[in-house]
Amino acid sequence: MNLVFKRKLPIPQEVKEMYPISEEGKLAKEKNDEEIREIFEGKSDKFILIIGPCSADREDAVMDYLHKLKDVYEKVKDVLCIIPRIYTNKPRTNGSGYKGMLHQPSLNDEENMLKGLIAIRKLHMRALNETGFSCADEMLYPENHRYLSDLLSYVAVGARSSEDQQHRMTASGLNVPAGMKNPTSGDLNVMINSIKAGQMSHEFIYRGWEVESKGNPLCHAILRGSVNKNGNAIPNYHYEDIINCYNKYMEAKLQNPAIIIDCNHANSNKQYLEQIRIAKEVMHSIKHNEQIRSIVKGLMIESYLVDGKQKEDGNVYGQSVTDPCLGWEKTEKLILDLADLRRELLKK
Ligand code: PEP
Ligand code: MN
Repeated sequence: MNLVFKRKLPIPQEVKEMYPISEEGKLAKEKNDEEIREIFEGKSDKFILIIGPCSADREDAVMDYLHKLKDVYEKVKDVLCIIPRIYTNKPRTNGSGYKGMLHQPSLNDEENMLKGLIAIRKLHMRALNETGFSCADEMLYPENHRYLSDLLSYVAVGARSSEDQQHRMTASGLNVPAGMKNPTSGDLNVMINSIKAGQMSHEFIYRGWEVESKGNPLCHAILRGSVNKNGNAIPNYHYEDIINCYNKYMEAKLQNPAIIIDCNHANSNKQYLEQIRIAKEVMHSIKHNEQIRSIVKGLMIESYLVDGKQKEDGNVYGQSVTDPCLGWEKTEKLILDLADLRRELLKK
């Protein structure tokens, strides 16, 4: 191997002891977890919004965003359950580009994994302590999950990872919902198999241990659109796509059938403003079909302070350095509109 072993990193337990969760934080997460579980189990008709930047590139702008989100949440929490995205590690399609705060704690600095591990724990902890939000992150590296396991209320397994066995087995050992994305090819069977594997118990090797998972009944689907062999984006959020996914779910006889619709990525073809129309189209489909209403538990939206995206060295405060995001004003309006649509549906 040509690997240079630069230094041994602290294990998750050591980092957790260095930066422990507060008692209030622990209680807030338990409460959030319970609320989210009830939605996935069909005991609550609140609608989930997993919303926030494509990547959490800097702590100050992310915290600013979360405080704004918290203020709107107060106005909509009768019908919506908001889980902010704090995505600290990013999969890259061709290997190059920003890989997230874990790799590069500050955009202007060199890569540094030790600083990165601490930076992402501190950011998730600040979010919980200051806003009460226990957030969502992508589980890009299953072995790293335990650095954040006491802080996250939602985990996504990305489109490039959901066919991978280690991701599936690790998801089967989580106590929070794990959303398995459809692969970039769009093959729903891969996603359904991923959910099936995540709901089973497994024996495997994890962080140098022989472990056994119980299975995660809250593993579910995220539809994010696909890309065909000519590079064109093919959406899968339309009425017929959701019915098709519902039917596959029913055939597979999985626990807690649930779909989250990702409004960006290949569903919007990264035309981030389209997220507004896509979100509203999904709300319309929910209104018109009982099966869709029962299975679509929420939306994923990429949103930040400033519209669009910038170059990695752009230094624009609150503008995405990865996928383009909806800016704050449009986000706030969208959340309020979605809450009204949900109230109308539930006749609240
Ligand atoms: C993301 O959510 O930012 C992301 C990388 O998603 P996907 O795995 O669907 O490409
Ligand atoms: Mn993204």
